[in-house]
Amino acid sequence: NPDPTLRPDPLPEDGDRALRPQALDEFIGQAEARANLKVFIQSARQRGEAMDHTLFHGPPGLGKTTLAQIMAKELGVNFRMTSGPVLAKAGDLAAILTNLEARDVLFIDEIHRLNPAVEEVLYPALEDFELDLVIGEGPAARTVRIELQPFTLVGATTRMGLLTTPLRDRFGIPTRLNFYTKEELHEIVTRNARLMGAPATPEGAMEIARRSRGTPRIAGRLLRRVVDFAVVEGEGRVTKEIADHALTRLGVDNLGLDGADRRYLRLIAENYAGGPVGIETLSAALSESRDSLEEVIEPFLLQQGLIQRTQRGRMLAQKGWTHLGLAAPKPPGQ
Ligand code: ADP
Repeated sequence: NPDPTLRPDPLPEDGDRALRPQALDEFIGQAEARANLKVFIQSARQRGEAMDHTLFHGPPGLGKTTLAQIMAKELGVNFRMTSGPVLAKAGDLAAILTNLEARDVLFIDEIHRLNPAVEEVLYPALEDFELDLVIGEGPAARTVRIELQPFTLVGATTRMGLLTTPLRDRFGIPTRLNFYTKEELHEIVTRNARLMGAPATPEGAMEIARRSRGTPRIAGRLLRRVVDFAVVEGEGRVTKEIADHALTRLGVDNLGLDGADRRYLRLIAENYAGGPVGIETLSAALSESRDSLEEVIEPFLLQQGLIQRTQRGRMLAQKGWTHLGLAAPKPPGQ
């Protein structure tokens, strides 16, 4: 199994509050999203109204939860958090909604995984701040309408395509988060290393930034492991040598790919002559769920131009062959 350090899904240690940016001005990167949010937050504050419902979409670990928390803080309201798969019944959502105070932020992670019956309850809540609850069963059943406090829903999803159209349409502020640049990750790593008491040299921070797959969560994890090596084998400073040594030991290569990424690329190269090969086939061969391939592994490989997604399946791109140190087969007839 892949080392969980290298995957962008949340681990308990992400609760590391000291490192999580607390204000919009401390949040590095996502300049466009940040500039827009700043205006919408200020406008909601000045009007004394709940901010419009906001949807963050993009790969895991890019700061969706962090931004939602910052929004609540800057709006000066409570932050409530739940997730799509946790809300099993309509009543679960109703209980949360009826407990919200005016203008609160309700964050629903993995909102593409909401049960349809729960989603149904959400529509009037989002539109009119009303809840239609069915009490009782059979012929005795009746509907009760409950008024809710105006609130802001912040949804997060790694799979925009899986959101139903009616749900998507109810978000006034859809915001896409993108992979971070090396310079942005460099800034994040430098700041976090300082906060952890293990200052990084510019080259040391860059080595981690380059190999973090554009993802702050991964940068944070890799930094923690590099700091371990810096403390035990170095002088407590994150230098390029220590970073390179630690990351290589962790199996993170110079593009930031780990064992799972390389297994994926090698499978297409060696078993399917570079593809195209269907996602279900890859999922079975790698014993990884289709979702985790599509949400976690593929976005960065696509962004780096290592693979291509075609109608007939995934294909290794020229850069993928080069990265594996293999020659691409010649197309037939050449
Ligand atoms: P998501 O909800 O998109 O999966 P999170 O908001 O949980 O991502 O962020 C993952 C980790 O990365 C957290 O530990 C967070 O503190 C850190 N992080 C995310 N964005 C930034 C940023 N712009 N600057 C610094 N740290 C960040």
